[in-house]
Amino acid sequence: MKLKHLLIATFIVVTALPLFIGLYSLNSYTGVQYREQVKSNLSAISQIAKLRILAGVERANDNVAQIASRTQLRRTLALWNNTQETPHQAQITRIINDAAIDRSYLKSIGVFDSQGQFVTATNGFEKLDSLAAAQFEDRPIRLEQHNGRVQLSRVAPLLLDGRLVGYVKVNFSTQFLNQLVRDRTGLGQTGEWLIAMQDSNGDALFATPLKYDPKAAFARTVSFTEGTVPIIQALSGNELALEQSPDYRGVPVLASTRYIEQLGWGLVAKMDESEVNAMVYANRTVIYAAELGIVLMAVIVGIGLSIYISQPIENLKSYIEKVTHEGELSDPPRVTRGWQEVRELTAHFSYMMRTLRALNDNLQDKIDERTAELTKANALLEKTANQDPLTNLFNRRFFTLRFEQELDRSSRYGCLFALVLLDIDYFKQINDQWGHDMGDEVLKEVARFLLASSRSSDLVARIGGEEFCILIPECEQDKVIVYLERLRCDLTELNFTAKDTLFTISASFGVAFYQPGMDSGKILLKQADEALYDAKRAGRNQVRIYQGELHA
Ligand code: GH3
Ligand code: MG
Ligand code: MG
Repeated sequence: MKLKHLLIATFIVVTALPLFIGLYSLNSYTGVQYREQVKSNLSAISQIAKLRILAGVERANDNVAQIASRTQLRRTLALWNNTQETPHQAQITRIINDAAIDRSYLKSIGVFDSQGQFVTATNGFEKLDSLAAAQFEDRPIRLEQHNGRVQLSRVAPLLLDGRLVGYVKVNFSTQFLNQLVRDRTGLGQTGEWLIAMQDSNGDALFATPLKYDPKAAFARTVSFTEGTVPIIQALSGNELALEQSPDYRGVPVLASTRYIEQLGWGLVAKMDESEVNAMVYANRTVIYAAELGIVLMAVIVGIGLSIYISQPIENLKSYIEKVTHEGELSDPPRVTRGWQEVRELTAHFSYMMRTLRALNDNLQDKIDERTAELTKANALLEKTANQDPLTNLFNRRFFTLRFEQELDRSSRYGCLFALVLLDIDYFKQINDQWGHDMGDEVLKEVARFLLASSRSSDLVARIGGEEFCILIPECEQDKVIVYLERLRCDLTELNFTAKDTLFTISASFGVAFYQPGMDSGKILLKQADEALYDAKRAGRNQVRIYQGELHA
């Protein structure tokens, strides 16, 4: 695994992964929290609404109590009970009209006698001849419908000196309830208030218009058998925070239920689950986006850092590979940024390379020096291997090599060459007469003479004591004979001085020509040797050509 990849993986595992997991749990937690918050909001505002309703009812009760406590009303009603005289009735009418002034929420007041028969009422009081028997008792305030309109009403007995003189029925407008249900602050887009009471079947009967059914007041009911519906729970006296409960439409809602015991009313504040979920999802989307951003940033920073850490090492690695494969002792690439260790490492490499280069240069100098010495020694060796030390002519060994090559070449191209053997006549006598050193001098002089008289393509070699050989390639027989004759003459003209005495020398020549088809050099050598022998035998100082029949 590459360092870079290892570092990236480490960064992701160490930073991005925990971040992701943390934010993911935060997200789930936030969703739960949000739901809890909605629930507690619903609970709080439903409690406030309950208190407001109770306060409104309390106020209505106070009003009823104030009206019922009017002595004049009770006395006049007692008189009416006894006399049924119209002035008493008019008096009662005045009193109640007076009581209704400045009470805008008070709709109308009706007065009944001790038998429950209608006496009089303020304007707008519904026509009632008598109170139903059930209404005779002092009852709490209740909601009722009259001519399609909903009102709050309370019937209170009027007592005078402990004796029942009649009843007063006070009707209040439900405006404050309607205001309460219209104000949907805190209930979102889908939320609403429900106020219901039990009808004669025990079902929930809505008392106010519904958001999704404006004509629901005193018209729409929910069966008491539907126990999971929040309004049924409320009417059952359960004050709960509900989730996923189907409301009267069957739509799942979050709801807070309240029961107003004094009135037997149920109150529900609710909000559609779909809206709450949408809010949770909206929050989630924001958090997920932030989460993704943070994780992405962690990954980018991780990759950046990994590259920052690993790149200088990669550069050094490629540099070392180059040095290893190409053998180029260049300096490592300069590192001016990056972490300190790599900068130091690079500097050390640089120093190491300089040292290596210096060593290398030194070594190269030494190698050059040794090579030159060896070349010189080789040349010397070659020379001594091929040269005769006395005359500096090529020796027999070298002659043999060249002779073989010449045989090869001539047999391949079919060209002629001449092999000349030359032996100084009576050389032993020179040695004997003038000393061995003089003999050497003669040999050297003959060698110089032969070299000077031959062409550069000819090979002149010393093959024995006072025996020489001339190899003449690509020649014509006649011209060779003429040349050798002249050479023989010129040799006799060489003058030597020994002990103030002049002397001359001569030599005998034996020549053989290479014939195409001749397969052995030995034959040619033998032929030349025979020709030389023949020259000696014939008296010396002459050139003899092998003719074939001489010593056949
Ligand atoms: P011929 O005319 O028959 O050739 O008679 P020759 O005396 O030349 O022949 P021979 O081969 O008998 O003598 C050759 C002599 O050459 C014998 C030897 O002492 C002498 N010799 C051989 N090598 C050297 C040398 O390097 N230096 C000297 N000074 N003498 C040498
Ligand atoms: Mg000889
Ligand atoms: Mg001789």
